[in-house]
Amino acid sequence: MIAPHGGKLVQQCLPEGARDRYAGIPAIPMSAIAASDLWNIATGVFSPLTGFMDRRTLHTVLQDNRVESVAWTIPITLDVSASIAERIQAGREMGLTDPQGVLRGLIQISDVYPHPKDERCRGTFGTLDARHPGVATVQGMGEYLVAGTVQTFGEKDPSLNAGYRPPAETREYFAKQGWSTVAGFQTRNVPHRAHEYLQRCALECTEGLFIQPISGWVKPGDFDPDVVQQAYRLFIKELYPADRVLLGSLSTAMRYAGPKEAVFHAIIRQNFGCTHFIVGRDHAGVGKFYHAYAAHRMFDQLPPLEINVLRFHEPFYCARCGSIATEKTCGHGEPQRTYINGSDVRDMLLANRTIPPHIMREEMVRFLLEQQQQRPLFSDGVRG
Ligand SMILES: [Zn+2]
Repeated sequence: MIAPHGGKLVQQCLPEGARDRYAGIPAIPMSAIAASDLWNIATGVFSPLTGFMDRRTLHTVLQDNRVESVAWTIPITLDVSASIAERIQAGREMGLTDPQGVLRGLIQISDVYPHPKDERCRGTFGTLDARHPGVATVQGMGEYLVAGTVQTFGEKDPSLNAGYRPPAETREYFAKQGWSTVAGFQTRNVPHRAHEYLQRCALECTEGLFIQPISGWVKPGDFDPDVVQQAYRLFIKELYPADRVLLGSLSTAMRYAGPKEAVFHAIIRQNFGCTHFIVGRDHAGVGKFYHAYAAHRMFDQLPPLEINVLRFHEPFYCARCGSIATEKTCGHGEPQRTYINGSDVRDMLLANRTIPPHIMREEMVRFLLEQQQQRPLFSDGVRG
């Protein structure tokens, strides 16, 4: 079994019953984004992080893409307003409440400091452009950051969907299945033919596939994470051998940080026990902010990760090949090729255009059309 990033799976969960002992403890309110990351820290998803970042750690992440001696590219922080920051002192232990006001965990406070939003945006997204959804998220956060080691009560966030398993459980599952190699697949889209092609390529050379859609915040207009989760449940059941694929979910916000988020996503999958991670074209990108293959190059600029990065070029449908292919496998020209991506699928759904079977399987199209009658298919982007 591959070791977690940094060598040890962080486990900072108190028994569920311990919550009662802390009833009435002065608490810091968390945003929905911070609340999901509290669970990610405490259950080892973000190993080796043990808490929300202090100013020195944040600076090292932004400047050098590392935490201590290992690669780390994305800030993990607890933001608060100036009025709340005034009531918080380093050295104290406080509670952490979610947006519903429920006590979810504890923090041993080590630092309270002004939120360096511009430095953070430049260091994470490479831009201060407010049209970048990650920049907009950070600019809307609190003016101060609170750092410190955290603990949670219980091992599962009650707000997480039924597909969620913490890293300790997926590791156990992979071992039980006898998978010595597992490819992780990150997505925020419903399954289309291009993603299926990447998944099948991975399955040809690994023993297991772990498909883990994002279930945290996504920008307005992206597919609703719950729709994606349900679509994948159906897709996997209809198509893949049951003993070779596990569906999970990853409850963290999308940052749209392109190459830096690709590294973050790879590290997370290593913590879940994956030995391989699929990185396609413009991973975690948005608009034209990143070069299509910047994420592939980013891995070469860091100390090597233990997880193997499977770098794929963009799949398309080639009419001459009569199949999905990439420029590595198709000898024909652009006129034969139809590129496939989640935004095109969304646009076709919104325009009530027929989605052809070489873009998306008929049963998936049917599922989405049925869902569309009952609920919005796309996120409203409210951050919570
Ligand atoms: Zn071709």
